[in-house]
Amino acid sequence: MAAPTGATLDGNVAKAEQFLARFARNGVQHFIDGASCASVSGKTFETSTPIDGRVLANVASGDAQDIAAAAAAAQRVFPAWRDMPGDQRRALLHKIADAIEARAEEIALLESLDTGQAIRFMSVAAKRGAENFRFFADKAPEADRGLSLPAREHVNYTLRQPIGPVAAITPWNTPFMLSTWKIAPALAAGCTVVHKPAEWSPITATLLAEICHAAGLPSGVLNCVHGYGETAGKSVTEHPAVRAVAFVGESSTGSAIMRQAAPTLKRLHFELGGKNPVVVFDDADLDRALDAVVFMIYSLNGERCTSSSRLLVQASIQEEFTARLVERVKKLKVGHPLDPATEIGPLIHPKHVEKVLSYFAIAKQENVAIPVGGAPAAAGGNYVQPTVFANAQNSMRVAQEEIFGPVLTVIPFKDEAEALKLANDVQYGLAGYLWTNDVGRAHRFARSLEAGMVWVNSENNRHLPSPFGGMKASGIGRDGGDYSFDFYMETKNICVAHGTHRVPSLGR
Ligand code: NAD
Repeated sequence: MAAPTGATLDGNVAKAEQFLARFARNGVQHFIDGASCASVSGKTFETSTPIDGRVLANVASGDAQDIAAAAAAAQRVFPAWRDMPGDQRRALLHKIADAIEARAEEIALLESLDTGQAIRFMSVAAKRGAENFRFFADKAPEADRGLSLPAREHVNYTLRQPIGPVAAITPWNTPFMLSTWKIAPALAAGCTVVHKPAEWSPITATLLAEICHAAGLPSGVLNCVHGYGETAGKSVTEHPAVRAVAFVGESSTGSAIMRQAAPTLKRLHFELGGKNPVVVFDDADLDRALDAVVFMIYSLNGERCTSSSRLLVQASIQEEFTARLVERVKKLKVGHPLDPATEIGPLIHPKHVEKVLSYFAIAKQENVAIPVGGAPAAAGGNYVQPTVFANAQNSMRVAQEEIFGPVLTVIPFKDEAEALKLANDVQYGLAGYLWTNDVGRAHRFARSLEAGMVWVNSENNRHLPSPFGGMKASGIGRDGGDYSFDFYMETKNICVAHGTHRVPSLGR
């Protein structure tokens, strides 16, 4: 992905400051029932930029009272939104997509400032947010479609109906895009939404709610409540009016949400962590494989659920492939996220930096070679060096645990059987990447890999109708295309008799 032309660091900084000014002045508010508002408690927290730790804005800190207001609005407006004809919903969601496109630069710049993700990737992510709305807009008219299942003396047919108000709880790594990935299908299905965005990256969630409202989305259909996981997040998973929770985040948080949501028997959809293998066989196109390996762990600061954080490389090419990899990693451009040339920006938060740095210490304890990186970057603050852990073993912590930073663990294997064993020997099962020119092996391996998504001779190439989600500790359920509607809707069966069958007759 080439750096975008035309923009400069100074130009981007100036524009980002202009877009930020109203949030710096007025704070980042909740958006409940069609209006911006502070928390009932009046509490706020600060959001800071990972660039230099400067406070960007005060953010409304929601709790059970704010969630109650948002859930009441979502419940009140649900029947009207549910009953709006699909073609009208389609038109409205297209208007939202248009508005996102029109404000894509603002979204991308604020997202970079708030998360530290490089602008080259956030520009693409903002546009992908619009695509998510457009794709599900076009699906809205068919969302209620069911099946005809005729029997001899009855006809059965199914209908799909929106489940009710739902919660979307999202993480900080690509917050705007991920929010649209949950909210667009929920709205297309006819659900109303209470969104609880991540506390480390709140700004663009408020923008999304404002954009939707300005495009004509009725008040109460999309509500955004900021706050911490333990307060606002917990409350929305417990609220009786909320029928389902679509959650993206850590596996351990998924477990907590499952417990919290149990008393009210909510439907749950989890997109959780990963420790995804990229498996490179010696017969692969190694130039393309190298590009993909570097891209899939060092783009988005490695803060990416589908990142290929474990490189399984065939022993026969291990030395040469690792040497080429290390040369590339040395040349990655770490810098200010608003600089169009930057490839790796600062990590989201000092606490997350601490976590990533702790794995540098763990690697040293585990006697793993670190041919490049392994330390904070020269710029200081939240910047860390892109890192390779070479010649590791799959049982080591650096091979088993999700680091969620620009850190790649390289593990050699002898043959296909060993590669498969290593690839599956991890608690996660989100994605897998396979590089080989042996067609039979590609199919065999893909079938046996314990992962919800497998890419063969490709990086993560998204196709919105295809299912997205993980196995094992990486998630429950699938998003994408019609799969999203299976989550946000109830399937109802209706059975109508022809009037010819014998009805059982008791008590004559
Ligand atoms: P996190 O689990 O800490 O937080 C995610 C969201 O959950 C935040 O909004 C947070 O406030 C909220 N939350 C925390 N505790 C809660 C509770 N008890 N009840 C309700 N809500 C609660 O995750 P994170 O650190 O923000 O994000 C990084 C993680 O997300 C990584 O593990 C990454 O792999 C995962 N992720 C997965 C996917 C996927 O599609 N599988 C995509 C992106 C990120």
